Amino acid sequence: MKEKMVIQAGWVIDGCGGCRRDQSIWITEGKIEKISERKEEIPSEYECIDAKDKVVMPGLINCHVHCLNAVGLPGDAADRLTTMERAYWGLRNLQAYLASGVTTVRNLGTMKNYDLEIKKAVESGLIEGPHMVCSGSCICMTGGHGWKSGLESDGVDECRKHARQQLKAGVDLIKVMATGGVMTEGVEPGSAQLSEEEMRAVIEEAHKAGRRTATHAQGTEGIKNALRAGIDSIEHGIFLDQECIDLMKKNGVWLVPTLVAPQCIVEAGLEKGLPDYVVRKANLVKDAHVDSFKRAYAQGVKIAMGTDAGTPYNFHDNSAYELELMVRYGVSEMDALVFATRNSADCLGILDQTGTLEEGKRADILILNENPLEKIDNIRSVWMVLKSGRPVVKKA
Ligand SMILES: [Zn+2]
Repeated sequence: MKEKMVIQAGWVIDGCGGCRRDQSIWITEGKIEKISERKEEIPSEYECIDAKDKVVMPGLINCHVHCLNAVGLPGDAADRLTTMERAYWGLRNLQAYLASGVTTVRNLGTMKNYDLEIKKAVESGLIEGPHMVCSGSCICMTGGHGWKSGLESDGVDECRKHARQQLKAGVDLIKVMATGGVMTEGVEPGSAQLSEEEMRAVIEEAHKAGRRTATHAQGTEGIKNALRAGIDSIEHGIFLDQECIDLMKKNGVWLVPTLVAPQCIVEAGLEKGLPDYVVRKANLVKDAHVDSFKRAYAQGVKIAMGTDAGTPYNFHDNSAYELELMVRYGVSEMDALVFATRNSADCLGILDQTGTLEEGKRADILILNENPLEKIDNIRSVWMVLKSGRPVVKKA
């Protein structure tokens, strides 16, 4: 490949809510140099990508994944994988993100900070994968949601200590567990877990270090605890009442709904061998989840796209499904695309680097055969994916 490249585009969806016909995207050293009206004459130092009948948009950003988790294995086989096997799955999963147009992922929880190692392998060029923003292990209460892979922490001092340890290990953000969840036996999704004071200690430490925070938060009381403690993003947000929505708007807190996570569990059900308690809890939360999402959207809560990929039957190459569900629940196609690009970059604190097609941004680009503004499923018609201006996926 040449250092300079130009994409001759039929349509450009810029990630900011705009769509223009017949544009040229000029790329130099992995960054967007400029975007102009399409010119047929191209200087010889530029390599040309002919996408005149295609749609060019920013690469998708998935704000909530568990990239080392194997998906689709029967029973509890995924839980019994060795570290080596998990690494192979991680590699395969990262390729699945790229192949489905995702050029950045935020990993929110793996055991033993393994995501930091896989990120290092990607950044050094040892393996191919999307850009990564990583939380390492989450901070949870003893026996609380995520305890098997998290740092069990009780009391303000222990929470603060673990936050500092995670920052020392080099995490990009810290994830806390404000409530119970669907996947851990014996805990109810609605119940509050880490206290407001415990979360405040973690959040203070993260913010002092210039890092953001995210929380798994499903029940109303736990969501409010996290909001009062100063959290930056609410993951799932299943039981949002009006006070939660008001607080989120007032404090500019992101919602990453992960609508597909319970949806995939409900669809797979007991027939696929999922445990009773998981299916029961997913069914219990699904309708409330959709209702909370619709109210948050209608009232202008800031929304970013995440799937919680790595949970049961929630495949790593299926970010499109989250966009399809958003549209099914009343979001416009354009809004869904903005949520998955500009908003997601903003939620991750990397909007100055990526998330839109604008001069100076990294050339993280998704080229589609069909227009997702006409039908959101067209987001699946991936033709080519560029990461920092380098083609990493090209289909026939
Ligand atoms: Zn998750």
